[in-house]
Amino acid sequence: MTEPSRIYLSREDIAGLVERLASEIGGNYRDRSLTLIGVLRGGFVFLADLVRQLQAPVRRVDFVRVESYGAKMVSTGRPQIVQGISRESIAGQDVLIVEDIVDTGATTAAVLRYLRRHGPASLGLCTLLDKPSRRQVDVSVDYVGMTIPDHFVVGYGLDFDERYRDLPDIWVIDPERED
Ligand code: 5GP
Repeated sequence: MTEPSRIYLSREDIAGLVERLASEIGGNYRDRSLTLIGVLRGGFVFLADLVRQLQAPVRRVDFVRVESYGAKMVSTGRPQIVQGISRESIAGQDVLIVEDIVDTGATTAAVLRYLRRHGPASLGLCTLLDKPSRRQVDVSVDYVGMTIPDHFVVGYGLDFDERYRDLPDIWVIDPERED
């Protein structure tokens, strides 16, 4: 079954998480100017909501695009940065990565490695959702909206085979059953 089966986080729940994260981040970056780097494609809705709530000066918004998941619910190998940023956009800047979800950690680790090479003054990491039980690569997340168990979730930017990104709530897709 690859249909969303039940709402896991309502739009109101999500708005509450975004508000709290924006206030935590705003408190820490109040006197600095932030460069936000969204991770495409799943993070686009979260970034759009977060940036409008942040009480910190935002200098620039940029995106990287990473590909690793195919049409299935499991990773298909080492993540590749398929769309990067220009060097000037983050050199010497306070950078915050904005992720939809940290799962095995492989994507985040690849983004961190890639951005570090561009010489930011600082590099922070914010994710809406975190699935620590699935972690294979150790990454340190600075801001977590919510820790969730090993569910595959869609909506609010997150897809299954490119579908469901437009859903305003976050839904669970239960794994295919053999019975
Ligand atoms: P990781 O490299 O940490 O295993 O996976 C990170 C990426 O996999 C996320 O940015 C997201 O695009 C995708 N991903 C991981 N877990 C889920 C999930 O539960 N639902 C969806 N739709 N994508 C996921």
